[in-house]
Amino acid sequence: MAKVDPHIAEALMLNAGYKPLEPYIKSHQKWKCLHISCGEVVYPSYHGISQGQGGCLSCGRKITADKRRLSEAMTIEIMLDAKLQPLEPYKFALEFNTWNLVNFKVSYQWF
Ligand SMILES: [Zn+2]
Repeated sequence: MAKVDPHIAEALMLNAGYKPLEPYIKSHQKWKCLHISCGEVVYPSYHGISQGQGGCLSCGRKITADKRRLSEAMTIEIMLDAKLQPLEPYKFALEFNTWNLVNFKVSYQWF
């Protein structure tokens, strides 16, 4: 593998939102950086970042949580389509079966 120019490596990290806090050593080595968007000190590798991987664990978790929230909206839509109204927020797919549901037809007769 060709050696990476430290200046190019640094520019790529900055471009990905990570400010290197120590000199570049090698591509697979953990590299102390500041994740600019959240202020967290993280240790991604140049190789990982250059492959498009995330370098910040806490931001990665947040992205995963956001994706889960998006799927909640979709899930509610599917349930409403099935004429079932969720009575509590959707949490995890595993809890799907224990979700409290009310059948729209039944509640309609109560009014
Ligand atoms: Zn972060």
